Formats: sequence, structure tokens, C-alpha cells
Amino acid sequence: GEKKSSEKVYKIATDTAFPPFEIPDVNGSDKLTGIDIDILAAIAEDQGFKYELDVLGFDAAVVALESNQADGVIAGMSITDKRKQTYDFSAPYYESGVVMAIAANNDTIKEYKDLAGKKVAAKRGTEGASFAEKLKEQYGFDITLFDDSPTMYMDVTSGNSVACFEDYPVMGYGISQGNGLKMVTEMEQGAPYGFAVMKGKNSELLKMFDKGLENIKANGKYQEILDKYISKN
Ligand code: GLN
Repeated sequence: GEKKSSEKVYKIATDTAFPPFEIPDVNGSDKLTGIDIDILAAIAEDQGFKYELDVLGFDAAVVALESNQADGVIAGMSITDKRKQTYDFSAPYYESGVVMAIAANNDTIKEYKDLAGKKVAAKRGTEGASFAEKLKEQYGFDITLFDDSPTMYMDVTSGNSVACFEDYPVMGYGISQGNGLKMVTEMEQGAPYGFAVMKGKNSELLKMFDKGLENIKANGKYQEILDKYISKN
């Protein structure tokens, strides 16, 4: 007989390290934890679908989606108007925006114009990278692109780049975990996170995600997941 959708195993691509949304295993296994990972698990359980998680990195996850090697992406992915032309997004599940970060011991960079003539780090394919590109036109600096956030941060703590651009909730979490960076400017307006599929494809998966998200918001599971990863002061 025909396969029921509940028997299909969806391939969901994600980032390698984007804490607290994707948190790598401290022991080095490829098993992730984090808000995205727990939300997806809770929604899949609620809706009764099966999936396999492909831990690829942000840009690689998007490439996998576009080349039909993944059915969906959950990776703290911002719902931008530009992306909406290519992907269908779930309802937003987390507010975000972009912020600049510099080394904790740097006292010379205070605003964007201080970046002129310097090196700046950004993560390939991200909103942080797009924002850096825009600023670059105005202030004039060189951008080095990295495939993952931890390597991008290291380029700044090592002094190779003077700043990087990262999502505010991720940078805030990283700083609280002692990543050696600090923020000296305000968060820029950004877009909330959503689960993405290719436009017009996997609509049943997207529907289940939205329905499941509604359900886990209603039954308290969603808030429980946020509380697990983000401490309320
Ligand atoms: N929210 C950013 C974007 O969608 C970064 C995502 C990430 O690095 N995982 O571009």
C-alpha cells in the first residue's frame, strides 16, 4: 500500500554550533542539544513524524535544502523577506537580531566607524554576514568569512579580526559562557527564527511543524525548553 507520511523519515539539516540553539556535545560526539533540537523533537513527537538530523553547518544546511538533500532546515534561521522568495517558513518561534562583538580586552573599537581599514569576521550565508557587507560599503573594512561561529569568534579573540557579527541571543549566550568577547553597540533590527522548507515543497511537513509548534506552546513544552537553556534573571 501507499506509505503513510508517518512512515517517511524527513531529513532535517542544521548548524554545527549555534548555542543555545545548537549546542555541540562537550565530549566531541556529533550529538547536538539546544533549543532548536528540543523544539524539533517535541514537535515531531506531538505530530508523530520521524526525522533524521543532519549536522552540516549553516550555509551547508541551506545548500542541502536547495539541492534536495534535506527536507527542512532548523538552524536559528532568520525569516527575511529575501529568503521568503526561495523558502516557505513556519510561524516564527524566536525573536532575534544582529550585533557586533569585539574581544573583551579591546578598548579601541567603540562604534562601526572604528572598523575602517580593519579586518572583520562573519559567518558564511548568515544575516550577520549580510549586515557586515552593508556596513563595509559605508565604512570600508575587509571581511573574512567562516563556516562556523566558534571559528569566527576565535578569529576575533586571537586578534586577527577586530570584530565579528553574530545573532544577539547567540552572542549574549556565548558571552555569558565566557567566549572572550563583548558587545559595545546596540542590537540591530533583525528577523525572528523559523523552520524552512523549499518553496512549494514538503508542505505537509511545514503544516505539521506549525501545528506542533502551536501545541507545544499551548501545553507548556515550548516554554519548558526555553527555560532549560536560557536562565531567567
Ligand atoms: N540567524 C542567522 C541567519 O539566519 C544565522 C543563523 C546561523 O548562523 N545558524 O542568517
